[in-house]
Amino acid sequence: MRCPNCGFSDSKVTDSRSVEQGVRRRRQCLGCGSRFTTYERVENLNLVIVKKDERREGFNRGKLLAGIRKACEKRPLPVGTAEKLVDDIESELHRLGQAEIPSSVVGEMVMERLKTLDHIAYIRFASVYRAFTDIGSLKQEVDTLIAGSQLPLLPNKG
Ligand SMILES: [Zn+2]
Repeated sequence: MRCPNCGFSDSKVTDSRSVEQGVRRRRQCLGCGSRFTTYERVENLNLVIVKKDERREGFNRGKLLAGIRKACEKRPLPVGTAEKLVDDIESELHRLGQAEIPSSVVGEMVMERLKTLDHIAYIRFASVYRAFTDIGSLKQEVDTLIAGSQLPLLPNKG
């Protein structure tokens, strides 16, 4: 952990406390004496995801992030949107406090959030996740979106 002020690589911890996603540490640089705070996150939740075919696998933040990033590709969303979304979902999963979570629950959490952010990203994610088998079910999803539109698909004119 390098000092943000002078770059010195050694510091002492003056305070340490647990926060929702990891540990917050107050540090003091042993080089220049300046104080700074670090947040050390727990990389992966100790959580088991139960897939549709009952197979189990450890929760993988990177995999979830990759899927969301892909759905959000080239959409006019602020930098860090996908990361924030994953953080949000991790916190919620953490709050649920269950050792095993069905993958469908995680998928619904993602879609619920994408729906309010960007409809195209939502449809992209849903089409992979729900594996629309025909154009009819895809159209139905789009129609539902338009009917209950929280975000306009196209800018309103006048
Ligand atoms: Zn320093």
